[in-house]
Amino acid sequence: MKIVGITGGIGSGKSTVAKMFASKGIPVYTADDEAKKLMNTSKVIKRHLTNLLGEACYKNGEINRAYISSKIFNDKSLLQQINAIIHPKVATHFKRWLKKQTAPYIIKEAAIIFENSLQDQYDVIILVVADKFTRIQRILKRDTTSVDKIENVMKNQMSDEEKIKLSHYVIYNQDLDETAQQVTKIHGKILESL
Ligand code: ATP
Repeated sequence: MKIVGITGGIGSGKSTVAKMFASKGIPVYTADDEAKKLMNTSKVIKRHLTNLLGEACYKNGEINRAYISSKIFNDKSLLQQINAIIHPKVATHFKRWLKKQTAPYIIKEAAIIFENSLQDQYDVIILVVADKFTRIQRILKRDTTSVDKIENVMKNQMSDEEKIKLSHYVIYNQDLDETAQQVTKIHGKILESL
């Protein structure tokens, strides 16, 4: 089973591209979504996060994302500690999910691959790029957030120039139809390479 990673900076269009692969029948695992679910369902994660961040990190049993975001805004080491709690659980969950798949290849969408030198976990890596201004506009339209917060996330992500060098394919996500055409082409190439 080939593991194809989709990565890219915040708001580049990873989910949009992943959905295009899904519409071709390719199973998609979204690491971020699974992490969010596990934060609400895993007792071990709940216990560790509460120990680290205090009771306020859960509100009515649900993870309090606004509280956690405010805590990690200027604290990279806290973010790393949170990741160290969550990532191993997501990795186990992904392995179990992978065993059940029967498609020729699967897509794993993950914002962070190169930043943590995780590229060896993938057979193929697709990078989604869009210029910074476009990404900020798209996120502002989608989320209740601020330019400051978006730029803070961007600051911690590797630049597209560096990531392009490390990726097998690059999708330039401007016009949606053109993005869909790039997806079709890459899908064909991956199938050919199997
Ligand atoms: P995040 O980093 O926050 O997980 P992402 O990289 O997964 O984001 P998407 O959620 O796919 O990005 O896209 C961000 C927003 O921009 C979404 O609201 C999406 O619908 C919109 N969008 C994505 N691609 C395009 C495009 N080519 N044209 C117009 N809007 C787009």
